[in-house]
Amino acid sequence: PPATEAEREPSYLAVSNVIKRFGASTVLDSLSLAVGRAEFVSLLGPSGCGKTTLLRLIAGLLTPDQGAIEVGGRDLTRVAAHRRNIGVVFQNYALFPHLTVAENIAYGLKAKGVPRADQAKKVTEALGLVRMEAFADRAVTALSGGQQQRIAVARAIVVEPSLLLLDEPFSALDRKLRETMQIELRHILRNLGITSIFVTHDQDEALVMSDRIAVMNEGRIEHLGTPSEVYARPKSLYTMEFVGQSSRIAGVVKGGQDGLVEIDTPFGLIRAPGNFLVGSKVVVGVRPEAIAAGEGPASDYNMVRGTVAEVIYFGSRTLLHFRTSRETDRLHVELNRLPDQVEPGTEMTVRWRIEDSRLFPAPAEAPQ
Ligand code: ATP
Repeated sequence: PPATEAEREPSYLAVSNVIKRFGASTVLDSLSLAVGRAEFVSLLGPSGCGKTTLLRLIAGLLTPDQGAIEVGGRDLTRVAAHRRNIGVVFQNYALFPHLTVAENIAYGLKAKGVPRADQAKKVTEALGLVRMEAFADRAVTALSGGQQQRIAVARAIVVEPSLLLLDEPFSALDRKLRETMQIELRHILRNLGITSIFVTHDQDEALVMSDRIAVMNEGRIEHLGTPSEVYARPKSLYTMEFVGQSSRIAGVVKGGQDGLVEIDTPFGLIRAPGNFLVGSKVVVGVRPEAIAAGEGPASDYNMVRGTVAEVIYFGSRTLLHFRTSRETDRLHVELNRLPDQVEPGTEMTVRWRIEDSRLFPAPAEAPQ
């Protein structure tokens, strides 16, 4: 996909200033989202942030209170769901249990009035795409979860939808199978060039599959960007902490110059790129894998000394949690190789590059 906003062609899916309320609660708060043709965009966020509601609005299963939804330049805001030519894949597959695999896939073609001979050909093609040719005449009830999800995908793409919506399609699958299906589905959709919106609360899934990720928070999009933009240059502390792990240390700006600020923290002075007034309350975020054991040249590195509180072994890496004086602070360090004799209680110095420090305004304190 094109790298920058400017290079991207005019949006194919345009969600503009959509407001959706349920009773007194505003679930989507003037939300806008522009997606390019053939792009794969994930809606990522915690339970209740409005992901499914946005998907249902695009599908036409809900109507917005305000705002508009366009696909391919056509205003669909008031168009009935079955006239939108949008495919949907749900978490629970929603296959017809009394029909065979082939009949399930042919269902939408029949409804569209596609001639019988073409139906059979398209069904075979779709089964080939999801590598399920051998299962055409099986009852769908005789399939595993992963196989059923493949059939649900085949059923959705066989009608050549203008847009494919997927609502946590892999959440019922075990981890290994989920990871296989993520790569497989991404491959299929890229090859077909189908514009897709994918709902997930799993950050790894979003990072692996997406061209861009829309990180959602309480009915708004907090950050829309490529996986590496969202991970490496999060626009907010919320995004930094929702996508991946993050150390976080709060402090007060003591001074600074040339786009670098010095922050007073319980770990001592920390430097970070940014522009904040002296006296500002800030939070420094650092990815645990950017932090290493031992000292480095002070011109390039922040160095802090602390006491290890917990050692968590993951096989390929080890995570160290340091003791902090405030509950809101967190110093997590990820090491590929553990230095000898590190255990809870060990005192050690760690370092990270100044440029790897992300600086955010401190979240507003909760009103008393
Ligand atoms: P999850 O990951 O749990 O599915 P989500 O991000 O998809 O969460 P939504 O299902 O979009 O969240 O729900 C957003 C909010 O809207 C929730 O607080 C939910 O309770 C509320 N909500 C959703 N549908 C309705 C409805 N039909 N009537 C009333 N409230 C609703």
